[in-house]
Amino acid sequence: MKRIALFCIPAHGHTNPMLPVAEELVKRGNAVRFYSFGEFRQKIEATGAAFVSCDGFLPSLTEREKQGLNTVSSTELAVQDIRITLAMDGFLDGEFKSFRPDVVYTDSVCFWGKLNAWKHNVPMVVSTSTFAFNQVSSQYMKNSPKELADMILGLPRISRELKSLAPLGYHVKSALSLVQNDNSTDTVVYTSEGFQPFAESFSDHFAFVGPSVFSKAEPDKEHRPLVYISMGTVINDRPDLYQKCIRALRDEDVDVVISCGNSIDSGSLGPLPANIRVYPYVDQLDILSKANVFITHCGMNSVSESLYMATPMILYPQTSEQKAVAARAADLHAGILLRDDSENGIRSAVKEILAHSAYAHAARECSADFRSCPGPAGAAEFIENAPHTSNGFDMIKELNRKNRRFRGVYWAAAAALMVLAGTLAGWKHVWIVGVAAGVLSDPIGRLFQKKSYAVLLDKHKADISHGMHAV
Ligand code: UDP
Repeated sequence: MKRIALFCIPAHGHTNPMLPVAEELVKRGNAVRFYSFGEFRQKIEATGAAFVSCDGFLPSLTEREKQGLNTVSSTELAVQDIRITLAMDGFLDGEFKSFRPDVVYTDSVCFWGKLNAWKHNVPMVVSTSTFAFNQVSSQYMKNSPKELADMILGLPRISRELKSLAPLGYHVKSALSLVQNDNSTDTVVYTSEGFQPFAESFSDHFAFVGPSVFSKAEPDKEHRPLVYISMGTVINDRPDLYQKCIRALRDEDVDVVISCGNSIDSGSLGPLPANIRVYPYVDQLDILSKANVFITHCGMNSVSESLYMATPMILYPQTSEQKAVAARAADLHAGILLRDDSENGIRSAVKEILAHSAYAHAARECSADFRSCPGPAGAAEFIENAPHTSNGFDMIKELNRKNRRFRGVYWAAAAALMVLAGTLAGWKHVWIVGVAAGVLSDPIGRLFQKKSYAVLLDKHKADISHGMHAV
């Protein structure tokens, strides 16, 4: 029996996958405390874990800060994360002294969970509610110019806030070191190795346990086609989209369920035809078990749940993280990207999915893969046994070694070229060669990394099969 402290930010997408894990930890006889917020109290208590309210530590927000959080600004999220950590400091000091957790299980962007595990020297396992990202898998994540600007312009503000942590015994180099997982941090990821892009680049410190869901329902698709539509729980204030969907599907031979969130009054969407129902919140897993098409914003949980229930998708991502998830689902042919979000575009996309069984077939294959994963029980075992050691192959370490060597050779060659150009054509314009080398270093470096990754992967696979034959 262990004492295990769970921490999460107040967000459905981050809290939901931790719940079946909490239940499993309780079932296995551990003492589990879940530090969370009133909105999730009922769901947490239903797992058997002790709910500890952190509501009193949420700062009051200015309109600008609220707006930042609503648009998932990474600067605003980091700043508020730091402020909550500061507010909770005394309280969590007391909790760590009285509860004395053996392990902390914390969401990847919940700073107060991570920082307190480090401060109190307690083994930590990180819960990642999206893909695991490192320098290789982040190729899937292309930040928009707006997101990049938010990150870069927000850095001074984040640095100022970070400075206030040091006097309380929290030592952090940068916000990036707080949100990014390295290959030696014990991490649970709620997807399969098959669905995680570049899964081989992660060390044994990563447990790919598959979607963490409560439902025991099996897919049941033999009925009049059912289309389910949801934009998730964060940026779901999209009456324009719901109205287009209603117009697109009102005369089609399908039933439609729309989950529109709490910020929209379903009555404001106009009179509904008999085949369409709108709710603020639904039992998504139950609906997905019956749905034949899911129009989704591509939150990691929604896409995982859809594939778990063998439902092909119309992918309508809004953020770079959602675009990464959408790209992976599209790669596996389990969905199509909604490029034209007009009434006609939506209707055609639904017809495309319903007319071609290949999408449903791909979703069924993903479902079988997900259902063969260790699930919440595997996550619970991984948490109980933390900290883990990994003696296995570390792709990132090897890759970084190769990258360092490449950079040395590249800049030596650039310097030689500058000397050659200076000697042959005069020194006045040598800077042009220097600037060209600087500009090209990034794309060439990325190409080199891609090639090195493929070579290392082949070598790793050959080593494994060689080892297996030797056995
Ligand atoms: N969800 C639900 N009912 C709804 C809408 C959403 O149960 O009507 C759940 C859904 O099952 C998923 C979570 O809310 O577990 C949404 O997480 P996701 O990562 O997909 O998106 P986010 O809301 O974080 O953008």
